Amino acid sequence: MSPKEKTTDIKTEIALLVGRVHELEAERIELIDKLESMVRENRPLIRGSLFEKAEKCRKKKCQQCKSGKYHPATFLSVSIGGKVKHRRVKVAEREEIEQGVGRYKDWLAKQKKLVELCSQQAEIVTTIRDGLLASITPPPQKPGCKGKK
Ligand SMILES: [Zn+2]
Repeated sequence: MSPKEKTTDIKTEIALLVGRVHELEAERIELIDKLESMVRENRPLIRGSLFEKAEKCRKKKCQQCKSGKYHPATFLSVSIGGKVKHRRVKVAEREEIEQGVGRYKDWLAKQKKLVELCSQQAEIVTTIRDGLLASITPPPQKPGCKGKK
């Protein structure tokens, strides 16, 4: 392969990489638009996860509890300052909380993807930079020369 052909190959490769950076940017913009529409929806994100647990009720003469079949209840589990807290979820608020938890998970996934795309772009930009680097070798340092220590 002649040096000229090699240069053309590198140029083609760099053009492809630049194209890839633009593709990733388009993906990023799309993601940011999705996050923005979540902001515009203005509905709360709820951190935590829901779980079901059967519990004894407070009624002293509850037949159901006496039979050992406790009452199923939904709880929201949240880690606050390293400690896991549970909060009972009322039937009336369950759907709303479930959706909020879903929105939070959705936001996190999009945020994670955003970081991945940025890091992919940075990697490609580094590869492009290395491809553009001119191979000029600095002259050897003379002994006794005051260089960097
Ligand atoms: Zn009961």
